[in-house]
Amino acid sequence: MTENCDEVQGIVLAEILKQNGQTEYLRRYSLAAGDGAAADRAAFKANIPVVTYEDLQPEIQRIANGDHSAILCGHPISEFLTSSGTSAGERKLMPAISDDLDRRQLLYSLLMPVMKKYVAGLDKGKALYFLFVKAESKTPGGLLARPVLTSYYKSRHFQLRPPPSEDPFNVYTSPTAAILCADAHQSMYIQMLCGLLHRHEVLRVGAVFASGLLRAIHFLQTHYPQLAADIATGELSPSITDPSLRASVAETLKPNPDLASFITDECSKADWAGIITRIWPNTKYLDVVITGAMAQYIPTLQFYSGGLPMASTMYASSECYFGLNLKPMCPPDDICYTILPNMGYFEFLPVSGDGEEIVDLAGVEVGKEYELVVTTYAGLYRYRVGDVLQVSGFHNSAPKFKFLRRKNVVLSIESDKTDEAELQRAVERAAAVLEAAAAGLSVVEYTAHACTDTIPGHYVIYWELLWRRKEEEEEEKVEGEVMEKCCLEMEEEMNSVYKQSRVADRSIGPLEIRVVRTGTFEELMDYAISRGASINQYKVPRCVNFKPILELLDSRVVSTHFSKGLPRWSPGRFD
Ligand code: AMP
Repeated sequence: MTENCDEVQGIVLAEILKQNGQTEYLRRYSLAAGDGAAADRAAFKANIPVVTYEDLQPEIQRIANGDHSAILCGHPISEFLTSSGTSAGERKLMPAISDDLDRRQLLYSLLMPVMKKYVAGLDKGKALYFLFVKAESKTPGGLLARPVLTSYYKSRHFQLRPPPSEDPFNVYTSPTAAILCADAHQSMYIQMLCGLLHRHEVLRVGAVFASGLLRAIHFLQTHYPQLAADIATGELSPSITDPSLRASVAETLKPNPDLASFITDECSKADWAGIITRIWPNTKYLDVVITGAMAQYIPTLQFYSGGLPMASTMYASSECYFGLNLKPMCPPDDICYTILPNMGYFEFLPVSGDGEEIVDLAGVEVGKEYELVVTTYAGLYRYRVGDVLQVSGFHNSAPKFKFLRRKNVVLSIESDKTDEAELQRAVERAAAVLEAAAAGLSVVEYTAHACTDTIPGHYVIYWELLWRRKEEEEEEKVEGEVMEKCCLEMEEEMNSVYKQSRVADRSIGPLEIRVVRTGTFEELMDYAISRGASINQYKVPRCVNFKPILELLDSRVVSTHFSKGLPRWSPGRFD
């Protein structure tokens, strides 16, 4: 496939147009498919607009409301995949068809064949992967709406995977029942317990994203006494109430006082450096995505693993699975993904924005940055994914891409993606509470940082305040309770992915406001100007990650406040 990248892309587009040529959407643009693949491809590019989710929302809403006609896709929409990207605060709904599972499965099936080119003996043990399903909901028309991984773990492709005798490269320590348990605590408990019971067999430790693996380590930190007690006695903690979970460990959990005291000894040490290799001594690598927003976790993972290699094996989304890392053991800076040309039809919008034309997968240039645009079997046409990629080279004729960033995202702890507008609205809402509580007090400047020093990480918002009354009141302290309320108000205004992570998954910690001294933001500007920024064009950055600036901000903090409550969130319906 990578040898004939453009040819495969032509075939994929021809298949999509054949399958979906009679849909309302494609007919609207008078796409007279049937003139031959090359002519159809040219007509497709000439007539079909490049769109965003908001452009497609009316069609998506009709499907969600139960309209079964061929609106976007010639095949029935089997479910919606809920993206962690949001629109107006709600998760985006991506249409999916039943064949998509085969395409995803194909990509998964390539991961271990690639990995075994670089790491020997992975068929001689197990993988400790922390995998989770999330809450599902239904659209008004009755279609399921759930995250793509939940859909995959619940599919027969995952559940009926070949037994170890047929596929010794994909043997997991986690029982399938634990992966499928929607109660995040019980699921994690059993997955960790099984990982501990099989500790010598574990050859790789992972989760989908780096943040997920750190959560698991934090879980071990807080729950090892109970886990060790269960292992010592062979009796499962009564806090695990799900019968299928209790049944899943009935065979393996036997009294093992030696293992229990080993775990207690290791986990009660003050120093957790290298804990992963201490507990799972045969681990060859960590299997977690560490690109994009996850890069912030690299130093912490290195600390806990004693510097094990970290493999970011694939690049995928709810819209489409894209590709894989063909050199998964490479250092973090070299990670790149080869897009598989048979997953969808891919185009690339140059980011430079100088009116440069959109190009095909085979037409990208090394070194250039592009926004990914995808056309899928399930009915997205020339859809802007929002990811910015840079071409780093070619594998045969297929380009390899570095993941640079997600467009417009200022804050991200795990799958949450908060943009500048959402942050602005949140600050405005909290500032209104502040002004109502303390007349004459306002937020004059703010910036934010995704703080991952804590597990789970949390949003930190720096506020500079101004008393509009008398000057001598400037240093007057604001009531702590009011500030705590402001923290919660900000959380109430965040999108549903943030709230779900905060409330249901507890994978984001309470939002923090750090009030800084008057004049701090001016100092920030002086600093930027001293480093070459133009005075006229200087804008307060709404997100800071640069260490010297964070240090400057932190050295000016006069008070810190945390959200004491939880924002309102429920899985809800998509109506
Ligand atoms: P979702 O729509 O929730 O499925 O999230 C998909 C998004 O997650 C992608 O569009 C990327 O922004 C991000 N993502 C997925 N895989 C990777 C990866 N390997 N490296 C960096 N970001 C990724």
